[in-house]
Amino acid sequence: MRRVSLLGATGSIGDSALDVVARHPDRYAVEALAANRNVAKLAGLCRRFRPAIAAMLDPDAALALERDLGGAGLPTRVLAGPQGILEAATCAGADTVLAAIVGAAGLAPTLAAARCGKRVMIANKEALVIGGGAFMRAAREGGAELLPIDSEHNALFQCLPAGYGGDLAREGVRRLVLTASGGPFRTRAVADLASVTPDEACAHPNWRMGRKVSVDSATMMNKGLEVIEAHWLFGAPVEAIDVVIHPQSIVHSMVEYADGSVLAQLGNPDMRTPIAQALAWPGRIESGVRTLDLASLAGLSFEAPDLARFPCLGLAYDALAAGGAAPVALNAANEIAVAAFLDGSVPFPAIHATSAEVLSRTPCAAVDSIEDALAADAQARRLARSILRLPADAGGVALAA
Ligand code: NDP
Repeated sequence: MRRVSLLGATGSIGDSALDVVARHPDRYAVEALAANRNVAKLAGLCRRFRPAIAAMLDPDAALALERDLGGAGLPTRVLAGPQGILEAATCAGADTVLAAIVGAAGLAPTLAAARCGKRVMIANKEALVIGGGAFMRAAREGGAELLPIDSEHNALFQCLPAGYGGDLAREGVRRLVLTASGGPFRTRAVADLASVTPDEACAHPNWRMGRKVSVDSATMMNKGLEVIEAHWLFGAPVEAIDVVIHPQSIVHSMVEYADGSVLAQLGNPDMRTPIAQALAWPGRIESGVRTLDLASLAGLSFEAPDLARFPCLGLAYDALAAGGAAPVALNAANEIAVAAFLDGSVPFPAIHATSAEVLSRTPCAAVDSIEDALAADAQARRLARSILRLPADAGGVALAA
């Protein structure tokens, strides 16, 4: 029996993960659930899955949850604030932690789970982009098992040799090819992008996801962050990571070997597949995903990404090539700009413009530790806010309360 702590339980990945878990009550139990402030949804999940811990970042939400669950006869302890989320990530009762908090806020608990040697199923790509080499070192030292559930990285994981040790050349791998759907604006006139609304940007053609990652898909910053994620997860040099647009989202990514063989992982676009693969690894379980009906597909097509339409993808390649603080700064600037776009404060093109300006003004400092990364993150957030003329705030993410 695996006992799972689900960070980001009330989100889109949380929905998919709990759907898979609920299909296998003999194999998986929910030990902890964590979210930000969605009390009604977390209360419903507590009643259904009866976790030992329910943690909410927002202390008022945690109080409301406690009141809501009072008298329900559940075994659930309600915890609040960053320490509560950390406890959900590290509690002794859980052997598996699914990291699905959105954004840089996911770094601290994901890192803490890795340091404790958990099986960490990573959806939260921003944690890897910020934590980079220091995160991977901490996971190794902690004895963690890192299993990617971003569909592309999960596909690469499945196409790489079993027991892959982080050296592409040694395994005869020529390159990793990440597929990208191209999002909702793949064919929209570039001139029209200045006036697109948040709802249009979130209307992804193939995937139902949270709003931040949906906007990232529309700019293709998501694919850029995934290039950086692949670099860290698989020890892949930037020149060995390619991106190809594949609008049908059936081929989730590919590994090309030195002999010209290309191994691909295919499946319907449904996050329950990578989640089930990582939960059960090295075994396989039923995920609820319907059989892929190849005969009914009109076709599978591939095209090179247009960097004039999707300049954020180019920025991510530049940031990875520059190294040091650059990927951290890019992620931070993007988070600030996407939040401002989603709340209607800035137009869609401001996401790229802000990210590019922050990147160009970020000194190429080395990032050797998580503390260095957090300092770079805070500095980039301050700069992004000032470029966008947003009120200053505390300015960064923290590792602990
Ligand atoms: P959602 O916006 O749907 O959900 C985010 C979750 O994180 C919610 O449970 C939210 O709680 C919680 N949360 C937000 N901020 C905090 C915080 N500061 N502390 C604690 N909890 C917090 O996002 P998704 O599920 O779509 O995405 C989650 C992550 O997975 C992202 O990093 C994304 O890039 C990645 N991912 C998502 C995919 C998808 O298909 N959705 C695919 C691949 C990767 P509350 O509801 O209370 O606000």
